[in-house]
Amino acid sequence: MDKIVSLAKRRGFIYPGSEIYGGLSGTWDYGPLGAELKFNFKQQWWEYMVLRRENVFGINASILMSPKVWEASGHTASFTDPLVECKTCHERIRADFDEEIRAHGEGHKAKKEKVDWTEPRKFNLLVEARLGAVEESKSTVYLRGEITQGVHVNFKNILDSMHPKIPFGVAQIGKAFRNEITPGNFTYRLREFEQMELQYYVRPEEKAAAEVFEFWKEERMKWYIGLGLNKDRLRFREHAPDERAHYARSAWDIEYETPFGWKEAEGIHNRGNWDLSQHAKFSGEDLSYFDPEVKDRFIPWVIETSCGVERPLLYFLLDAYHEEEGRVVLKLHPRLAPYKVAVFPLLANKPQLVEKARQIYQLFKAPSSLPGRRAGKFQVQVMWDDRGNIGKRYYSQDEIGTPWCVTVDFQTLEDETVTVRDRDSMKQERVAAKDLESYFAERLQ
Ligand code: ATP
Repeated sequence: MDKIVSLAKRRGFIYPGSEIYGGLSGTWDYGPLGAELKFNFKQQWWEYMVLRRENVFGINASILMSPKVWEASGHTASFTDPLVECKTCHERIRADFDEEIRAHGEGHKAKKEKVDWTEPRKFNLLVEARLGAVEESKSTVYLRGEITQGVHVNFKNILDSMHPKIPFGVAQIGKAFRNEITPGNFTYRLREFEQMELQYYVRPEEKAAAEVFEFWKEERMKWYIGLGLNKDRLRFREHAPDERAHYARSAWDIEYETPFGWKEAEGIHNRGNWDLSQHAKFSGEDLSYFDPEVKDRFIPWVIETSCGVERPLLYFLLDAYHEEEGRVVLKLHPRLAPYKVAVFPLLANKPQLVEKARQIYQLFKAPSSLPGRRAGKFQVQVMWDDRGNIGKRYYSQDEIGTPWCVTVDFQTLEDETVTVRDRDSMKQERVAAKDLESYFAERLQ
């Protein structure tokens, strides 16, 4: 873990939040490489969960919502974790984090100080904010503690504007905030983080819902494995009944084996009709669905898949990190790698090589004048490097996970071929410059 934290900072993936002011606990900033990685990660999720499906719609709801939302969803009353306070130094720690409590106590013991804790009490995780120029009590809002509710409060809007046929899903990616008592383990437990969620509405029938639940469980596991996460470090775990959220009819986690134990990557929950019926009750709106085929009206059940961005991304980084003889290599899946290709002139002081290499770099880099995809034009995240010698550049690219390096050398000037070097096998082959687009397109499929 220490190696990942240090690499992440040194190579521009992840920096401590507000670092020059001494930091802000539970926040991290994504640097140039981290931002690309995060972008790719979210894009992979969106493509898999939304774009390739006929019956899943994406939305983008506000972070700030009416405080009534959180009353209806139960968050104001019960979005809590147990907290204990050290009577000696007043540090607060999550009461169920045995490891942290033990370490804290030992710190005091070593200084021959008393170890004494308050009784556990419930601590609400919602982050408060003030909005507008009205008096304090009227202006209190919450930064959303989960992105889920942004979907459910729009259920009626989705029905009226998209006319979906059940079963259908509504997906969202966005920020959530939690006043975590004990943030830590790098980006594992944050106070500000992103989530990627699907709320999938089904008929309120036990058997059908169980089948859909199984389908999404498998789909989600496939997604992690498809993006290269070691399947021996992944498992499902069913929540014990006393562990489940108050609304959950069933709950499973996908877990990853980290250096600090098996930990949750995402949760798959059957939320029943909890959210929609609560919002119907609190808002007075009719949030039922009319099934034109069966001709009945009901409040649908919801199967939810809920994962973070930063937390599972940390697992991908841990999984990708390899030390091999003479190099450190991040074996990230090419679709996740911050840069797909690095382009080098063999020698930085030979203008002919530089010019030719720039042409290839521009070919991938060329800014598009049209938003979205442009048919027939292949663009990828590409990096230019002309520092040091070729060995150092390979080392540097391996460490950030760039799958392919393209070198323009003297032979290029004669026969228009370049050297392509593969990150994992370290093999090099000659490829005609004109075939580079199809060469990479094929490998990125
Ligand atoms: P935990 O038990 O670890 O506190 P949770 O069960 O409360 O997590 P959920 O509410 O199910 O988490 O959130 C869904 C996903 O959002 C988690 O699987 C995780 O990937 C991510 N997530 C939740 N809380 C945090 C956090 N504080 N920091 C980073 N990611 C988080």
